[in-house]
Amino acid sequence: MPRDYHVLNEPGAAPAPATREKHVRQLIIIGSGPAGYTAAVYAARANLSPLVIASSVEAGGELMNTTDVENFPGFPEGVQGPELMTKMQEQAEKFGAEVVYDDVVSVDLAGPVKTVSLGSGKVEEADAVIFATGSAYRKIGIEGEERLSGRGVSWCATCDGFFFRERTIAVVGGGDSAMEEATFLTRFASKVYVIHRRDELRASKIMQQRAFANEKIEFVWNSEVIDVLGDEAVTGIVLRDTVDGSTRELALDGLFVAIGNDPRVHLVHDQLELTGEGTIRVDGRSSRTSIPGVFAAGDVIDPTYRQAVTAAASGTVAALDAEHYLAALGEAGTP
Ligand code: NAP
Repeated sequence: MPRDYHVLNEPGAAPAPATREKHVRQLIIIGSGPAGYTAAVYAARANLSPLVIASSVEAGGELMNTTDVENFPGFPEGVQGPELMTKMQEQAEKFGAEVVYDDVVSVDLAGPVKTVSLGSGKVEEADAVIFATGSAYRKIGIEGEERLSGRGVSWCATCDGFFFRERTIAVVGGGDSAMEEATFLTRFASKVYVIHRRDELRASKIMQQRAFANEKIEFVWNSEVIDVLGDEAVTGIVLRDTVDGSTRELALDGLFVAIGNDPRVHLVHDQLELTGEGTIRVDGRSSRTSIPGVFAAGDVIDPTYRQAVTAAASGTVAALDAEHYLAALGEAGTP
């Protein structure tokens, strides 16, 4: 059960207003992707009444921008990303998780009670927090990329592909994301270049084969995008050959960047230990971070596998770790 702190007025102080009450929850989960919602399912079933801070604009996480999810066990016909996330949320709420569509602006993890401040101005407190904040799209880091963002430059094919009917576009990257985006974009575009900095893809064989077999896709090997051209909208890109250093222009209507993701650690980078790869450091196979009562799960701790199902499993670990921590806290007497 949640604890209540009663801060009474000093004896003899002027007429006591009401008792000031602070509601300290047992568990707050930050993030609503597969890690966050799976942690919520487990924590709610353990009667921890978790509060899930789901974000105001990105609730459901990355899978909300995905179409067919073909590799989540239990769905032999595949499942749409948003449908999968809606079902995970329903399952968590069914067992008593509370979901709010708000953004965390800051956290204070130092004391026994963790403070989570929200964009709405609300401040939530809990004995334990799980970070399941996932990762953010990586940017190339060239000038035109930001300037033309939303005007031809995009990080999300399912969000923006529709605007490129019968147009020529390019996808940058050589991993699964780039193959998935390129293949999806051929539904709309007349031509899709895949621009990769090496001559060998990182993507899984099945995704590679699908892209190679698609007649609308043309691979541009050993090439880096060094500039995005256009005033009001993208008109082309400048490519540099990574072997001989030569440059050339390629006329385009759109550029999709799919070069990976970086863990979202901006809330905690000065409070929790991070790894050399920028993920939150956890203790072995657990979800325990460098601060007791603070746990982390999903892509924010995983630089390697980053699958929906591994994130979900990681959320399970975090919920179980938080449950054990809270049980021990209860046995020791609440602070
Ligand atoms: P990734 O596997 O890290 O691939 C990133 C790609 O972008 C690499 O080919 C990399 O080139 C390239 N790259 C990185 N930084 C670059 C830069 N600054 N400029 C140009 N190119 C750059 O990332 P991902 O494709 O997003 O996949 C991440 C994880 O999610 C993987 O585990 C993947 O299997 C998984 N995933 C799975 C599915 C699926 O199963 N349906 C779909 C999407 C993603 P190099 O190869 O030269 O390093």
